[in-house]
Amino acid sequence: MNFSELVSRPHRRFNPLTREWVLVSPYRSERPWQGQVENVPVEAAAAYDPNCYLCPGNARAGGLTNPAYTEAFVFDNDFAALQPDTPAGEVEEKGLLVARSEAGRCRVVCFSPRHDLTMARMSLPELRRVVDTWAEEFLELGSLPNIRSVQVFENRGAMMGCSNPHPHGQIWANQTLPNELAQEQASLGDYYRSHAATLLGDYLALELEKQERVVWVNEHFILLVPYWAVWPFETLLVSRRCLSALHELNDEERDALADILRQTTVRYDNLFKTSFPYTMGFHQRPTDGEAHPEFHLHAHFYPPLLRSATVRKFMVGYEMLAMPQRDITAETAAQWLREVPARHYLDL
Ligand SMILES: [Zn+2]
Ligand SMILES: [Zn+2]
Repeated sequence: MNFSELVSRPHRRFNPLTREWVLVSPYRSERPWQGQVENVPVEAAAAYDPNCYLCPGNARAGGLTNPAYTEAFVFDNDFAALQPDTPAGEVEEKGLLVARSEAGRCRVVCFSPRHDLTMARMSLPELRRVVDTWAEEFLELGSLPNIRSVQVFENRGAMMGCSNPHPHGQIWANQTLPNELAQEQASLGDYYRSHAATLLGDYLALELEKQERVVWVNEHFILLVPYWAVWPFETLLVSRRCLSALHELNDEERDALADILRQTTVRYDNLFKTSFPYTMGFHQRPTDGEAHPEFHLHAHFYPPLLRSATVRKFMVGYEMLAMPQRDITAETAAQWLREVPARHYLDL
């Protein structure tokens, strides 16, 4: 059976990063297109909101005041989930009741002083400054003695539970590898040892040859819908050069990353003509002091929208009890993302 025969019927696809499977039921997307592209009215958000704790010059919880910042601005989260001075400790009972203390740091990165912008509508120099800030933070937090992983992420949109529209992301630095990074790290390491090549390098070569799931490329980065995508419009953003962390990007590559971040978010916004919600984040090498030749810098975008600006996918039922499932194939999703205009719909 060839690929197109197999994938026209229900099938499972393997995710080599997490070593988990996703169920794909392509026939269900042959149902007539019920979702409509809605013009959801954009909130007339002002460039400055006096009640926003992220806007320049405003007071934050805990009595601190933001400076009158003019570009990406970083500060320690006032309600940090991890704290640097957590004392070491461990309890264990019969291997069933296990707990260990976890030290770390949580930072907040305001992408822009403008309350009303998103990555899709920021200028390239502003986005480049965000890339530089992420890189500086990885280097600084990753060099702390008890920090082994640095997670850069953005949670965007009320649908994702993000309470403040001000463009911002977070950086959590942990004493141990969190689950997702630990799983990927194990897969990347095993592949590197058995193939003497990186998993993502080999995967990129395959995708570039097939051109079925590639959405957009520039000189230094590739955006694609991964073969094993779970979320309807999930994408993977990978650097062409195999490097293991953001701070290793050279000047040109940082500009290229700013460019493809904007291209990615513009395409998302254009798909349903809405400010597209998502969780995105970069996976970078563990900061345990070891060299990690197996690690290949990449970012995941996990957007929840399914058929329109208001219809979202829920991970419930079979997905909570068994395995994730999707209707439209990764190939179809990539095609839709390729076909939308490259210019933001609000700028047309
Ligand atoms: Zn604000
Ligand atoms: Zn990853």
